[in-house]
Amino acid sequence: MEKSRKPVSVAEAVFRVIEQAGYTGSESVPLAGSYGRILAEPLTATHDVPHFTRSPYDGYAIAAADSAGASGDHRISFTVVDHIGAGEVSQVTIGAFEAVRLMTGAALPAGADAVVMFEQAVEEGRTFTIRKTFAPQENLSLQGEDMTSGELIVPAGSFIHPGTIALLATFGYGQVQAAKRPVVGILSTGTELLEVTAPLEPGKIRNSNGPMIFAQLARMGIPCRIYDTEADQLEACLLTVRKAMEETDCLITTGGVSVGDYDFLPEIYKRLGADVLFNKVAMRPGSVTTVAVAGDTYLFGLSGNPSACFTGFELFVRPALLKMMGADKLYLPRTTAVLAEDIPKANPFTRFIRAVYDGTSVRSAGFNKSNAVSSIARGNSLIVLPGGTRGYAAGDRVDVLLLGVEEGVEEWGL
Ligand code: AMP
Ligand code: MG
Repeated sequence: MEKSRKPVSVAEAVFRVIEQAGYTGSESVPLAGSYGRILAEPLTATHDVPHFTRSPYDGYAIAAADSAGASGDHRISFTVVDHIGAGEVSQVTIGAFEAVRLMTGAALPAGADAVVMFEQAVEEGRTFTIRKTFAPQENLSLQGEDMTSGELIVPAGSFIHPGTIALLATFGYGQVQAAKRPVVGILSTGTELLEVTAPLEPGKIRNSNGPMIFAQLARMGIPCRIYDTEADQLEACLLTVRKAMEETDCLITTGGVSVGDYDFLPEIYKRLGADVLFNKVAMRPGSVTTVAVAGDTYLFGLSGNPSACFTGFELFVRPALLKMMGADKLYLPRTTAVLAEDIPKANPFTRFIRAVYDGTSVRSAGFNKSNAVSSIARGNSLIVLPGGTRGYAAGDRVDVLLLGVEEGVEEWGL
């Protein structure tokens, strides 16, 4: 019999896990395929943006000095000497009381230092009048106002989101240096497990954890290898784990990690000589969650209970994989919200409750036992109730971890 397990706090468990993460290295990926990856190099402006001073409006480029003294009673007239759209450059240098009609995005012509918006002008054929004085640089989009050449814009380790893609495109990157994604395997264990499309049989259930983890990885942009489900048989399981270790950087198993008669993962870690980082966490659900390292493979032993499995992934697997990719924001974003209902149950250990957060308040997503599937489906967040607390009442403020947000935060902070 295994010696009694010593629970560690959630924060300590998270710390132990991410401490082990080694960098996967980087590779060049096409810009179009870079969404969701982690930037491996800092992104520095290679030129000013914009790289020429341009008009932010449809209007007329003038010399501001020519507008001095203009008022409602003293309108000043300009003659239009050229007409350009975005992408065009006027060959004209404007003279006194001359203007170039230009469209949004067009380069400011020589001799001009302000733009009169159409709405600020009264047009009369090839001339127009204005009724106010313009300051130099008024209504201009100045060269370098967005970014200046050499400026660090996005640090290495950032999540590549649509805005990052816009930036990469701005600087002409057809290829991007992104972190390699760890090779991740999923192995669902349990004699009771049926394939998803199999008809139900007495005593058996369909494997929902495998496909769920596949999707949790997918929303991190990480593909995975799915190993055939294993029954609770030590030798067969051990064989598959050994094989998976050769093929992956990280193997996620579900089930068999507790102290039941058919829970063989603890024995497997022993046979592998794995370094078990922890095998009990002071949390609900998922107290039996185990993380070990064998050779250079992470072994995540998640509980078979669906809600525990789901939570274990989000709390431990996610930050570890992000750290392997050199990401700077490892943790789920968190907020506080007003509890919309009573949660009377005391919390001897930190409790994670699948929940629905609407931007202001938060409520449980329904049936919330560790074996629940429905509340995982309904929830978009996790309420965190610290260990050692009594029940909570509607109106109390509670911590909430947000799920499915592309980019997390730097600090664990719970
Ligand atoms: P275990 O962690 O193996 O003790 O399993 C705990 C509970 O989760 C049991 O009721 C299992 O039947 C159930 N379970 C285990 N694996 C899965 C799975 N892949 N999908 C859905 N439920 C599972
Ligand atoms: Mg089992």
